[in-house]
Amino acid sequence: MSILTHKCVIVGSGPAGYTAAIYASRANLDPVLYTGHEPGGQLMITNDVENFPGYPNGIVGPEMMADLEKQARRFGTVVHLGTLINKVDFSQRPFRLWADDGTEMLAHTVVVATGASAKWLGIEAERRLANKGISACAVCDGFFYRKQVVAVVGGGDTAAEEATYLAKLCPEVHLIVRKGALRASKIMQERVMKTSNIRVHWHSEVADVLGTEAVEGIRLINNQTQEYTNIPVAALFIAIGHQPNTQIFKNQLDMDETGYLITKPGTAHTNIEGVFACGDAQDKVYRQAITAAGTGCMAALDAERYLTENSII
Ligand code: NDP
Repeated sequence: MSILTHKCVIVGSGPAGYTAAIYASRANLDPVLYTGHEPGGQLMITNDVENFPGYPNGIVGPEMMADLEKQARRFGTVVHLGTLINKVDFSQRPFRLWADDGTEMLAHTVVVATGASAKWLGIEAERRLANKGISACAVCDGFFYRKQVVAVVGGGDTAAEEATYLAKLCPEVHLIVRKGALRASKIMQERVMKTSNIRVHWHSEVADVLGTEAVEGIRLINNQTQEYTNIPVAALFIAIGHQPNTQIFKNQLDMDETGYLITKPGTAHTNIEGVFACGDAQDKVYRQAITAAGTGCMAALDAERYLTENSII
């Protein structure tokens, strides 16, 4: 089987990957996009997206992703649905990539848009009540529970940020922390402690979530006394960290200790010229659809410049 050489291969299919594809295809880079096993990424498990500019009435996550795919295809992006790039070799040029359908390909530029996955507690209720009051993003879903009592689980910066964000919308926020201290930065810890409507439950874990059609409450276990308590809440926000999907780039692309790709500030350039990173795979701070889309645009523009400067196009 002959091995095709592409000008631009995009790995990943969230807002970052599809935005890179729209820009790259309109610039005649003839991009091919591999969606991975979860086409559309994290927005596929989101209900209404109300904060993406341009949708005054909001849009449901899967519909937005279908529109982005359509828009990318309209300009000629070849989309390989459900296929995962599972191996790359950036030590040779063109770069070499392998997909799990057996395809091997060469690429002059690669845009990494593999995203990050929220970590979950691993309890059955997370499946039962997915999109029914259990969420991994307060900025995305908090608004739907304004004026209601909610809970956040986690003790890091994300949990602290989500709890303080929700405290502006909700009369009471229960913060569930499994240890006796927060891991969050000092400034965030202080912010949590100073917010009068955040109630911290130390040494506590979520044993179960109550409700069948909607979240009605959480069942906590104190891991020191083994006592159970039920707390009525309308939503539970899981904020126990994210895992960037960057394992296949290990030892090739620079990443921080938790696996987030490192890009040169203000650009999508990685440590390897011709490989660009965008979206949540390189962003542990903002993690929004709009910021992912913005960096996807940057990655495509950087790829186009690289191809021009190296006389490949
Ligand atoms: P972290 O890994 O820092 O924290 C995860 C928290 O979740 C910890 O308190 C951990 O508990 C808890 N946890 C993990 N698993 C479970 C579980 N199964 N049940 C209950 N609790 C659990 O993740 P974050 O997402 O908070 O932060 C990741 C990185 O991103 C950090 O470096 C952070 O500083 C950074 N960040 C920066 C922001 C900013 O600059 N604005 C905003 C958000 C994040 P334990 O402490 O017991 O291990």
